Amino acid sequence: MLDIHLIPVLQDNYVYVLVDQNTGVSAVVDPGEAKPVIDFLEAHNLKPSFILNTHHHWDHTNGNHALVEKYGCQIVAPAGEDRIDGAGQKVAEGYRIEIGDSIATVIETPAHTKTHICFYFEGDKALFCGDTLFSIGCGRLFEGSADDMFQAMQKLKALPDDTRVYCGHEYTEANIQFAKTVLENNDVLKSYEQEVKELRAKSLPSIPSKLEIEKKANPFMVAKTANELGHYRQLKDNF
Ligand SMILES: [Zn+2]
Repeated sequence: MLDIHLIPVLQDNYVYVLVDQNTGVSAVVDPGEAKPVIDFLEAHNLKPSFILNTHHHWDHTNGNHALVEKYGCQIVAPAGEDRIDGAGQKVAEGYRIEIGDSIATVIETPAHTKTHICFYFEGDKALFCGDTLFSIGCGRLFEGSADDMFQAMQKLKALPDDTRVYCGHEYTEANIQFAKTVLENNDVLKSYEQEVKELRAKSLPSIPSKLEIEKKANPFMVAKTANELGHYRQLKDNF
């Protein structure tokens, strides 16, 4: 089993520190900034063995260099991605990554960027999905198509309802405001809005969310076709 620690960095990014309970082996997911992560690692006496990068964007990778310098950890990055410096292991669909006794399966979800991977820890029912799936939203289509994102959503929808969703940004409140304009009378969305409002009022993260909620109240997961998803994405881009 994994201990999962969430570290807010930059404007609204989340970095995750994973610690395998059995072995103490640890990993850092998407370090967009080094200092707050190093502070956390020092305070908890952790020396990460891995950096898991979901995609190449700077707000997910800027801390890589300093962490590698300090801890000599190995960078795990998407196969076919040349824009992540120092990547030691490039992984494709179905690859397994062992963080001590905790095992992640790689799910390829190109759409936000040309290469993008999610890390799914089946034993922990935890999904680290970068900027593919957000709570009640999805990543912008910078390098891929609506078709690509639709396929990514279908892959993630196949995971169990009680999967915890650890995404790259705290965008949930704004995403809910948009979702209400396209999913009318959605009771799951309404009660989730209330729940998120209460958490955010206390400055607590809305993350992790439950995949069950995403399947029912996230317009990009609810979308029945790639065209519908593309339409929602366009509306959201201009919202
Ligand atoms: Zn991104």
